Amino acid sequence: MSAEYPYPALPHEPRMQEVADALGKLGLHPHHLTLAVNRNVDDPDNSPCIRCGTCDPYPCKIDAKLDAQIACVDPATAYDNVEIKINTLVTKLITDDSGQKVTMVEVEVDGNQEQYTADTFIISCGSINSAALLLRSKNEQHPDGLGNSSGMLGRNLMLHNHSSIVAIAEKPNPVKFQKTLGFNDFYFGSPDHDYPLGQIQMTGKSKWNRLALFAPGSIPQPTLEYMADHAVDWWLTSEDLPDPNNRVTITEEGKIKVDFTRNNLKAHEDFVDMWQSYLRKVDFFLFMVNTVPLSAVWHQVGTCKFGSDPKTTVLDLNCRTHDLDNLYVVDGSFFPSMGAVNPTLTIVANALRVADHLKDSL
Ligand SMILES: Cc1cc2nc3c(=O)[nH]c(=O)nc-3n(C[C@H](O)[C@H](O)[C@H](O)COP(=O)(O)OP(=O)(O)OC[C@H]3O[C@@H](n4cnc5c(N)ncnc54)[C@H](O)[C@@H]3O)c2cc1C
Ligand code: SF4
Repeated sequence: MSAEYPYPALPHEPRMQEVADALGKLGLHPHHLTLAVNRNVDDPDNSPCIRCGTCDPYPCKIDAKLDAQIACVDPATAYDNVEIKINTLVTKLITDDSGQKVTMVEVEVDGNQEQYTADTFIISCGSINSAALLLRSKNEQHPDGLGNSSGMLGRNLMLHNHSSIVAIAEKPNPVKFQKTLGFNDFYFGSPDHDYPLGQIQMTGKSKWNRLALFAPGSIPQPTLEYMADHAVDWWLTSEDLPDPNNRVTITEEGKIKVDFTRNNLKAHEDFVDMWQSYLRKVDFFLFMVNTVPLSAVWHQVGTCKFGSDPKTTVLDLNCRTHDLDNLYVVDGSFFPSMGAVNPTLTIVANALRVADHLKDSL
């Protein structure tokens, strides 16, 4: 299935257009980022989104960003048969005696235990927490966790290799909404690299007090303000590769443990160096590079890899566990590999695909 975007791309603000044009003259191919802001550039006065400066990384105070709540959860509550339970932690899935079906879910609601039964169970806790829930739900029939006959549950966690580059030029950058520009020219390599490097996009515009958080040494506030006023802020993403040893487990005390060793770092480091050399050619002269630490598990995917072979994967191609008839995992867990682009549109597209399958089969 494919369809046109509902609105034309958000145009670049003047300074970003200049940067896009300058990099385009070097032979690169600037493109507009896909955005989930509810703004029709052909009719801005009647659009909910006012194109403000706080879009990244804050929730929208006027409900003009089509995030999960606005686009999915709130509309779903219009149906009489949908109830959202807040402050509710799913702690365990219970199976029947054969171990073939989940029959009940145990939850904690404001500290109290409750149980719910259903015909079909769909887990969407995010990659790390979905694996943790299935591991915690182990029982006599599934001693290593639900859906884990392959031994792959919790494994192949991927996180992306990310760096931000705050690039400073003499020319000020008074942009409000910066996140409109991207480049895929080096996705599969570059003239000097015969291996994939990744994707380049913008971040939200840096503020001086945000720069202070990761600036080396103690830089005086006026210098930080100058840097923020003149900075263009980039975000570079490279793929990390599935590794069965990068995994989620549960400790004896019942806590989630994540073992993770980064990989494919050379490609990312080369990418970050190379992008700075391009930016130097278009008059940027100072760079603050911040590689995102492992503790930021922002783009977590993997842990319940999908595939057709039950010996090597946790989920089948419809995201149902190979081992249990009525248990699905529908979130970022299914990714067998993650590419170098933001994961959420793929997570959403897959969820819609699985929803169609469920609609047809239940
Ligand atoms: C700061 C930040 C910026 C990001 N920016 C981008 C971006 O620009 N583009 C992009 O594509 N992606 C971005 N991401 C990543 C994106 O948010 C995730 O890829 C996406 O939300 C993952 O979707 P999911 O359904 O797998 O899990 P989630 O969205 O994490 O949903 C899981 C839900 O399950 C709930 N939950 C977990 N365990 C339990 C339990 N036991 N019981 C009950 N509920 C539970 C959680 O509270 C959560 O609401 C960003 C992430 C962060 C943190
Ligand atoms: S936060 Fe600002 S830019 Fe983002 S959707 Fe809301 S109004 Fe638009």
